[in-house]
Amino acid sequence: MKDTLNVVLFGAPGSGKGTQSAKLIDKYGLYHISTGEVLRDHIKRGTELGKIADSYISEGQLIPDDLMIKILDDVLEKEAADKKGVVFDGFPRTIPQAEALKELLKKRGTDLHAVIGLEVPEEELMERMLLRGKETGRADDNPETIKNRLKVYHDQTHPLREYYTKEGKYLPINGTGIVDE
Ligand code: ATP
Ligand code: MG
Repeated sequence: MKDTLNVVLFGAPGSGKGTQSAKLIDKYGLYHISTGEVLRDHIKRGTELGKIADSYISEGQLIPDDLMIKILDDVLEKEAADKKGVVFDGFPRTIPQAEALKELLKKRGTDLHAVIGLEVPEEELMERMLLRGKETGRADDNPETIKNRLKVYHDQTHPLREYYTKEGKYLPINGTGIVDE
């Protein structure tokens, strides 16, 4: 993974991380890792990990750090070794995950280059997720779980904005308006 471009797409649930990741990987030929999708895939396949993940996701809680970090390490090892770089979507979500990411990239001879923060007002996040729940049937896009996810975001994930600002890596982007903008 040397000479790579590694970016984190950061933002609240519903901020458009998945949508904008798809654009970035097309344009720059990067590999997309969405930890949410990795977990949903396990749930769909009914694996042991999927059962554990489901118990947290359905409550709007985070999967414990040690487990989530192990999963990410495995995906990097199996899928990303020969890629030009990675867009991380949905990871890190806690300070310990951010520290682990630093180590995981360092041991592969590379680094994190930027954290792009999609900033969207809370009312709009709620609307977007309710719409997505209706359109896709995604199970955690229901009013009660969304409320928990937003609270977890504020308490555990939002502090990373400050963390990456101090490292000079945080780049805020207005996440409202149309997708192509
Ligand atoms: P969006 O896809 O709109 O950005 P989101 O960020 O809530 O919304 P995902 O990133 O798909 O959705 O995550 C869905 C759920 O998966 C989370 O609510 C959490 O339970 C679990 N999850 C995903 N990534 C992590 C992580 N890095 N650490 C712990 N749990 C995670
Ligand atoms: Mg997503």
